[in-house]
Amino acid sequence: MDMNRRQFFKACASGLGGSSLAMLGFSPQPVLAETREFKLARATETRNTCPYCSVGCGILMYGLGDKAKNVAAEIIHIEGDPDHPVNRGTLCPKGAGLLDFIHSENRLKYPEYRGPGEKEWKRISWDEALTKVAKLMKADRDANFIAKTADGKTVNRWLTTGMLAASASSNEAGYITHKVVRPMGMLVFDNQARV
Ligand code: SF4
Repeated sequence: MDMNRRQFFKACASGLGGSSLAMLGFSPQPVLAETREFKLARATETRNTCPYCSVGCGILMYGLGDKAKNVAAEIIHIEGDPDHPVNRGTLCPKGAGLLDFIHSENRLKYPEYRGPGEKEWKRISWDEALTKVAKLMKADRDANFIAKTADGKTVNRWLTTGMLAASASSNEAGYITHKVVRPMGMLVFDNQARV
């Protein structure tokens, strides 16, 4: 490797400094660990699941804010959950970028509705959104439910509405989703995690 005189002295000085500090007991490793501790010391740790794909990696989210009404909580750090059986603390690049996803200005945080013929999406409450979905489902089921086939076999099918559940659903959430949609006759049902 080519090195000029200035670079040579710089390398020697940093090498000497590093080894001398290590000999005096100042190994850089604990120092780095302390920096991390300090960053997360006052944070609240919350376990969650990466929302992106069907692997369903476990994550630890660290937030600041004591949950008082006048304090806006903020997520400051996310990392893989070392105790999670799926990923054992690892995350792929998508999962590792979750902090940017959370703070993105484009992130949708509430239901929106665009009526027939309208150009703009309008924010609506969860109550309005769920009521609207329930009414549309009922109207569609009433209009298209098939109780029997042409030759008289009972089938109780509803084929014109489908359900796509989230990839981060747990087994329990998947089970409950089945229990909700199957008794209504819905056959078109999928989940990114393939429940
Ligand atoms: S971290 Fe990557 S592999 Fe894991 S669930 Fe998220 S997107 Fe999928």
